[in-house]
Amino acid sequence: MTETMEQDVQATIKALKSNRFDPVEYVEKAEDVAKIVLAMIPPEAKVGIGGSVSLMQLGITDELVKRGNMTRKQPDVYLTSSNAITMDGKLVNTDMTGNRVSAMIFGPKQVIVVAGINKIVRDVTAALNRIKTTTAPAMAKIAGLKTPCAVEGGKCNDCKSPMRVCTVTTIIEAKPRVTQIAVILVGEDVGLGWEPDWAEDRKEKVASAFRENMGKLRAFVQLQQ
Ligand code: SF4
Repeated sequence: MTETMEQDVQATIKALKSNRFDPVEYVEKAEDVAKIVLAMIPPEAKVGIGGSVSLMQLGITDELVKRGNMTRKQPDVYLTSSNAITMDGKLVNTDMTGNRVSAMIFGPKQVIVVAGINKIVRDVTAALNRIKTTTAPAMAKIAGLKTPCAVEGGKCNDCKSPMRVCTVTTIIEAKPRVTQIAVILVGEDVGLGWEPDWAEDRKEKVASAFRENMGKLRAFVQLQQ
């Protein structure tokens, strides 16, 4: 990690803590994350997860299934990633359905957010821009949806499509009153997110890991139905 990236990570952790997310942990290696997250979840807890490629990529989803923690009803603990984390300590997320973003705010008493350093952006403006220019188009493309942003050479035009992937956006500015939110920041790229000026090989690595784990996530969701 470059010195600048390290400074960005430290600034983000400090800001998240000041916004009362608790705990905020930094885990350098992706391979160590599943063990740490699983240790935070009581063995008997009922766990719900957002449709998260990051959790699938880190092996957390598979481990929760093995442990028998998964539920489709009211969970005690809700696990998800975040589409973006700002350097001033805010979580920015967009959904098509809204189930994930609402569960992050109210319902489960404990929420655990697990996100790679590629999700860090400067501020809310950068987060919203990232979602419209990278996250939503990639999601739509991979899901085979013909939204304007997903077709060749297309870009966001605030579409009115029923297949619009970005219908609900939340900004969690600080810990919500009755929900505990832990943030585990991973010192590697995990899940979907990049900036246009990143090296092509870094972007391609993120995209190909996302495609691969999106396939696994789809199979998992089908099995749950
Ligand atoms: S509003 Fe439509 S075109 Fe814009 S990012 Fe969302 S899905 Fe794509």
